[in-house]
Amino acid sequence: MERKMVCISCPLGCRLTVTWEDENDIAVKGNKCAKGESYAQEEILAPKRVVTATVRAATGAVRRLPVKTNLPMLKGYIPALLNRIYKLELRPPIVRGQVLLKNIEGTGVDLVATRNLKKV
Ligand code: SF4
Repeated sequence: MERKMVCISCPLGCRLTVTWEDENDIAVKGNKCAKGESYAQEEILAPKRVVTATVRAATGAVRRLPVKTNLPMLKGYIPALLNRIYKLELRPPIVRGQVLLKNIEGTGVDLVATRNLKKV
């Protein structure tokens, strides 16, 4: 199989061509450093993303508070996380960095607030 992708590990954005027969035989071309090879392998075997979203605030100075995962999360878990985020309702005060969901789906990844939310 072959797949083209852009490495997002640094601003250079190398265009990679990845070919593989099985998970033990992945070849990467187009990368200018070793990070590109690691990135391509992870994208094929276990792609992960940092998830950003907003969460409804029951009361407070704003109606929605921006949040993100503290680590990249396996893509397969993201729909379940988004379902939980849509059901969340925050009650201020919330401080930036506060854990809102801990160890999501047992992955070790937390959802954290990226801003403060004060009471009004
Ligand atoms: S392969 Fe290396 S140089 Fe190219 S985008 Fe990825 S990290 Fe940057």
